[in-house]
Amino acid sequence: MCFLCDVKHSAWQSRRGFLQAAAGAAAVAASAPLLAQVDVGASSSLRTLVPAGELEAASTQEYTKLLSDARAKGTLAPPGSAQLRRLRHIAGRLVPQAAQWNDRAKKWRWEVNLIDSKQINAFCMPGGKIAFYTGILTQLRLTDDEAAMIMGHEMAHALREHARARIAKSQGTSTLLSLGSQLLGLGQFGDMAASVGTQLLTLRFSREDETDADLVGLELAARGGYNPQAAVSLWQKMARVGGGGGNGPGFLSTHPSGPERIEQLQANVPKVQGLYLRARGQS
Ligand SMILES: [Zn+2]
Repeated sequence: MCFLCDVKHSAWQSRRGFLQAAAGAAAVAASAPLLAQVDVGASSSLRTLVPAGELEAASTQEYTKLLSDARAKGTLAPPGSAQLRRLRHIAGRLVPQAAQWNDRAKKWRWEVNLIDSKQINAFCMPGGKIAFYTGILTQLRLTDDEAAMIMGHEMAHALREHARARIAKSQGTSTLLSLGSQLLGLGQFGDMAASVGTQLLTLRFSREDETDADLVGLELAARGGYNPQAAVSLWQKMARVGGGGGNGPGFLSTHPSGPERIEQLQANVPKVQGLYLRARGQS
């Protein structure tokens, strides 16, 4: 899930010195791809404090649990569901665009599932585990292009490893020390994976992460052949349903759809329009 950041500034300051030192030791630079059309910087180097493989394993565990709970309640869409097939078709066009943003994505076992719930929500957990709730499709009456924009946005959170960076920022110093040791080959990993698994569904992303996901998601969807203008109509719909102030339920409360967000997306549409047209020409 995708929430706005609530990291406490004061707590953050006390850990900052350690984090900077550890990040310096462990950082591996990762830039936006050279051919990217949207202007985003490198992913946060802090994310390297949390081992990606362990986080992806924890994510898979949490996702499996979510699906089995939904199956038990009879709310997991069956493979024959028209809406699920529609989502999987969209993913089939977006996933091939993913690896240019994160090399690890080549090895991810992407999954897309649909849960019957009135909640307006969707997410992509680390490692490519995607879920949509029926509420976001029906209440917003999403076109395929708009659903692709949401999927692209959520995939971008995973590809840009926002959860990994967010967890690094939220862990206590002692945990980070053990993580740092592990990364440097000095110690055991312990049960970090189990402890972060439960955090994955309640993570809050920062506004910077949200902007990053908006732009990377816009480009992913355009490269997949989805009309970038739909990013604008999507957030206009969000604004109508959520009142524009971020006071709506679920996804809407954590993704405020103000004029700034819409204006920024609109300004970026021309940058990816060529990618969209090229993808359509090839399809
Ligand atoms: Zn988001």
